[in-house]
Amino acid sequence: MRPVLIVHGGAWEIPPVAVSACRAGCRRALDAGLPILDGGGSALDAVESAIVALEDDPIFDAGYGSHLNLRGRVQLDAILMEGATLNAGAVAAVERVRNPICLARRVLEASPHVLLVADGAEEFAREQGIALCEPEDLVAPSQRQAWLRCREAGHSSAAHFPSQQGTVGAVAIDGAGRIAAGTSTGGTCCKYPGRVGDSPLIGCGCYADDEAGGASSTGWGEGIMKIVMAKTAIEMLRAGRSPQEAADGSIRLLSQRVKGTGGLILVDRQGRVGASFSTPNMAFAYRDATGAVVIAP
Ligand code: ASP
Repeated sequence: MRPVLIVHGGAWEIPPVAVSACRAGCRRALDAGLPILDGGGSALDAVESAIVALEDDPIFDAGYGSHLNLRGRVQLDAILMEGATLNAGAVAAVERVRNPICLARRVLEASPHVLLVADGAEEFAREQGIALCEPEDLVAPSQRQAWLRCREAGHSSAAHFPSQQGTVGAVAIDGAGRIAAGTSTGGTCCKYPGRVGDSPLIGCGCYADDEAGGASSTGWGEGIMKIVMAKTAIEMLRAGRSPQEAADGSIRLLSQRVKGTGGLILVDRQGRVGASFSTPNMAFAYRDATGAVVIAP
């Protein structure tokens, strides 16, 4: 099978000035992951590399350049899941790790646990030889400005809206039919300190099962958790729906059942892709099994 990679840079209202940066960021993520797949590498490696590229890009709400929380600090969440074994590794509320997806990979491979949070996750990073940064190293000047504007406006939801930006994720199937998925985020703008959304939660922000497919979610985390959105989409695949029907079905459920908005990307075990969102835009890009490349918006 020809390998497939799909990435997203979040479901949000992308202002016209940010469109080309989002497209370029998604393209760079494909460029980071596809050579691994084309060289016979694993879906897990490709997803991790694609997400590192997205985390390093300040246009997205992941890694450097993430939203600040109420205290003016970046707190990051990430998950990586392997569809062959159903093994997953995740971290939440970390403040000193530039690429939390790499720490999630270490949790997947080198710990007996699925999710490590806060200072325990950072201690594990140190043990694993992952360099810790200063919390300030994760703060982009644009996000500091956005946070100051939100604070001046009393943290009203109208104040947060213009500074929304996107969580990132990736799903791949490699030449051997192995599926992996991952998601990484700084969470919502001015979130309560310690708040963790759907992104690092298995079945909510991400799911991968070689017997059905892989998915990565984005959007209103409190709603996505309630419908366990990534696993819900995978179960729709298992029930025989196409990837596009499963993506649309889970986004419809998010809206109908909890009045939430968001987006989801999917790859099924045959390498077919699906992408759906209920926000004005979603930044995403993929190369499908025919070799066609699509970049949106
Ligand atoms: N789902 C993320 C969260 O709630 C945010 C996003 O995807 O934009 O933390």
